[in-house]
Amino acid sequence: MKQKILVACSLLSVVALFFIGKRSGEELSFQQCEFEQIVETPVHFFITQSTRVEKLEKHIDYSNLILANSCVPMKRTLASVSYVDANAFADLDDIGKLHRKLVSLEEGKIQSLQQLGSYYVLVLENEHPFVQSGWSGRAHGNFSQSFVLLAANAEEHILEHELGHLAWAWHNDEPIHWLKGQLLPEFHQYIKPYARGALCQDAGTVMTYAEKVLPIYSSPEIDYFGTACGDEETADNARLMREFAQSLM
Ligand SMILES: [Zn+2]
Repeated sequence: MKQKILVACSLLSVVALFFIGKRSGEELSFQQCEFEQIVETPVHFFITQSTRVEKLEKHIDYSNLILANSCVPMKRTLASVSYVDANAFADLDDIGKLHRKLVSLEEGKIQSLQQLGSYYVLVLENEHPFVQSGWSGRAHGNFSQSFVLLAANAEEHILEHELGHLAWAWHNDEPIHWLKGQLLPEFHQYIKPYARGALCQDAGTVMTYAEKVLPIYSSPEIDYFGTACGDEETADNARLMREFAQSLM
């Protein structure tokens, strides 16, 4: 009986979704874009034995979906996977210390990766104190414009969220004076007033903490159920990412 009720409820919800979909048109509608050139940005991963490579591939694929949806001529590639000893990082709980440790252990590999548009990601196990304290990813331009920390259990959009930060894309709700306080003075020139995420209806773009994250950067050219998910003046991270891609060509 319970099963029958469950089936009936699921059918009803499918019908309801169908009608909502019908009324509002497509969930997401995009601008058309054509590129003459697409720049590739290699992502190198440093992982422990318990992380699966397929999980990394999913992150990369999702990043590329976000970039394509946002009309950004850029493609992430999974450039390499190296294994590190989890014990070497076990007691370190802030991004600066974790970064220094990785650089000291992998100096030979990392030196050549510290350039604009090239990235290296340290993937921390779920038991690591950094992950246990609630973080699923972290990047900070003050330390490096190439380094990302990622939790092994992070949701698929987290990698692109952190890579967005490294191109100077910001959340939807942080005032410019706050950002200036976070960044060294030499990086203040990269703070653009339009480089913010956007909330739209019940969802948000990749640079927000919305419960439902859409696979897009904010853009006045992308509609979510008929409403623009961005603003030319205040929320156009897609423009910022296009400009960033252009700077790498
Ligand atoms: Zn963030």
